[in-house]
This record gives sequence, C-alpha cells and structure tokens, in this order.
Amino acid sequence: MKFKLINWLRGKLRKRRRLHQEEGEPEESQVEDDVPNLPRLPSTRPIVLTPSPSTEALALASSPLFGKLPRELRYDILLRAFGGSLLHMDLSYVHPVAPTEPGRILFSHTGINTNGRFEVNWDTAVPKSWQWWSSVCHRVMPNYEKTWSFIRMSHPEIPRPGDDRCRYGDAHFCQSWPGAYPSKCKIGIMGWLLSCRQAYVEGIDVLYRTNTIHMSGQTLILNLPQLLPPQRLSAITSLEIVCPLQLHGVEVGAIPEVGLLNDYLSVFASNLPSLTRLYLALKAKGSNARPVDMQSVFEVLDAFVLETSLREFTVSHSHTVFTPLYNTVRNEITTQHHQQYKTIPEMWRNADGSYILPIWGPNTEPFYKQVETSWPKPPQVGYRTVGADVVGDGYWLVEGEVDDYTPCRFSTIYL
Ligand SMILES: [Zn+2]
Ligand SMILES: [Zn+2]
Repeated sequence: MKFKLINWLRGKLRKRRRLHQEEGEPEESQVEDDVPNLPRLPSTRPIVLTPSPSTEALALASSPLFGKLPRELRYDILLRAFGGSLLHMDLSYVHPVAPTEPGRILFSHTGINTNGRFEVNWDTAVPKSWQWWSSVCHRVMPNYEKTWSFIRMSHPEIPRPGDDRCRYGDAHFCQSWPGAYPSKCKIGIMGWLLSCRQAYVEGIDVLYRTNTIHMSGQTLILNLPQLLPPQRLSAITSLEIVCPLQLHGVEVGAIPEVGLLNDYLSVFASNLPSLTRLYLALKAKGSNARPVDMQSVFEVLDAFVLETSLREFTVSHSHTVFTPLYNTVRNEITTQHHQQYKTIPEMWRNADGSYILPIWGPNTEPFYKQVETSWPKPPQVGYRTVGADVVGDGYWLVEGEVDDYTPCRFSTIYL
C-alpha cells in the first residue's frame, strides 16, 4: 500500500513537471530521481590532476614561464584573464542545442542557437542527457556592483539574479563587455588548464577562488559534494544562488515552504568553508498572497548567518514578497522615530530581528551620491541610515525578481 502511494505521487509529480515544461519552465528544475545517471564523482579519482607541493619543482625546472616569472605575476595574469568575474555553472538534463543553420548570424549570449524570442533551439531528435554548461555572466554591466544603488534607481530594467537567462542565450549586456563576440561570453580557460599540471593547479584555484559563481539548478546545488572535488568546494568564496520559494495559502497569510532553502544552506554550511559572499535570490512561486508570513524564512536565514562567517550576505525577494515586508518595516521605524524619511528600497536585518534602512542624501548632492549605500557590506559609519544599531551578524534584504502577478515590475517606494 505504501509503495503504491509513493508511485502514485511520483506519477503525479512527473505529470506536473511535464506540464510546467510544456508551459516553458526551465528544464533544470527537474529533480534527481526523475532522471538517470547523474555524473557523480568516482569514489577514487583515476588520475590526480593536482600535484602535491613536493612535485612542484618538476614543473618549474624546464619552463621559462614557471621558472622565471614570479608566482605573484603569474597570479596577476591569471586573475585578469580568468578571475574576478561573475560566472555561470550549470548542470541540466536537456537535449543538446541544435546546430546553427549555415549562414545564420546569431546575437545570443555565447552564440547559443536561439529563435527570435531568445528561446533555445534544442535538438529534440537527440535524447536528453546531463550536460555541464558555463559562461561569463552578461546579465549585468561591467563593474555593476560598484554602482549597484545608482544602477538600480536609474536603470530598473536590469534583470535580477533570479531572472538571469544567460543559460538560454538571453543576456542584456553582451554588447557592453569588451572582447570579440561570442568568445567573450565564454570563460575560455580550458586551453590553459589542459596545458600542464602546474598551469592547471594555479588556474583552477583562481577560477574557483576569485570569481562569483552563479548557480540555479536544484540538482547541481543539492549534489555539490558529489559533483565537485572537496578542494574545489573549499576554494569557493563567492556565490550567487537562485532558490525557488514555494508559497502556500490563499489571499492572506501565505506560508513559504522552507525545506529546500534549508537544504541549500545546509550544503553551503557543510561544504564551503571559504564562502564569504553570498547573494541568495528567493524566487517566489505559487500564491500571490499579501502579506507573506516570512517568519519561518527569517528563522532559517538568521540561524545560517550566525553559523557561518559570511562577510557579505544579500537576500533578494520577489517583488510581491519584498514590497509588503519593506512597507511594514519602514512604517514601524517611522512610528518609532516620529519622523518621515525618504528611504531607499533595501534594508539590513540584524540576526536579532531588528532593521536598518538607508535613506536618501540631500538634493544638493549628485544623484549617485544621494542613493549611495554601504551594500553589499554591512551598514557603516559614513552612510546615511535610520533604525536599529548594527548588532553584528546580519544580511541585506533587497527587491528581487519579477513575478507574474505584478503588473508593474519595479515600482520603488519612498516616503
Ligand atoms: Zn554574452
Ligand atoms: Zn548571467
């Protein structure tokens, strides 16, 4: 009876997934038990690629590059070539992309074969299989983090991490990045990694340690320890993660399902000892109830931030979740202070549940200065804020992804 029930439920879930795929939902949302042969690491590696420190002299002996160029200079070169960027890492169970028709000129990110609506032309004649995919992220402009507040206030059409579609060839800012298209969309490190073992060990470390890695696939994130060697996981310092947040309930008091969020954060806390920067995009799915009761989500996030040693932690919420939450916090602070403030729609939450809001600067300043905040670093002296004191650990809450029920995607709210 028990197994009949499980099989019936699995059948229902598969049917629902197929329905979602037909409606255009990305195929990466499939879960592991639905597909075969996840490419897990072998229990023992047949070839060890990373040389131990005692064998390093072998590589240095006859190579001018490794023998004469100081390690610090080699590091700087690798950092400029392959580091310090936002990169995609993806593992999806999909058909291969169809070959590009002869003579057709593409404008899509990485030159992936897409139709006129930036949807991938999959080769459905070939069976699906697990496929790794990576690229530089061109959803954002170069150096976007340095001018985040200014860009968000003046260019609200820039997609958020949860709306990233680089994987499907749809990136807003390919043209803004230097280099030749489409090679500039690709990381381009494989030639260097395969040249020799010393090049591999230095390049792979820069790749994982100095870039922010964007991941959105459940299978990839939940199986990270089975898919990447522990030394690569140990090198990761910065992540951009998209986590679906299923909402249950009707028009009032929707309750988020936090199981998946809990699982994601457990994987990070247990396997990524060097993680210091995390951008977590909570992409709401399901009910459009307002307000959403976010207490269970905050309990998970508060516990995570106390457990880990993150220096920068940002959590974005879909618009219909963020706006009521932001309004509630803003009204509470206004009531406490008996004063009106012109606030910027982002807020810092201390792990004790208190909030700090950045506020606008005087009109006499340039616009970018008026909306400057300390994000992604915690609120600091020198930036204009109102609300609680910084009590230590905490995280930024920012407006996130578009959701289907909001007629106006990015309405900003000020006092
Ligand atoms: Zn591109
Ligand atoms: Zn991207």
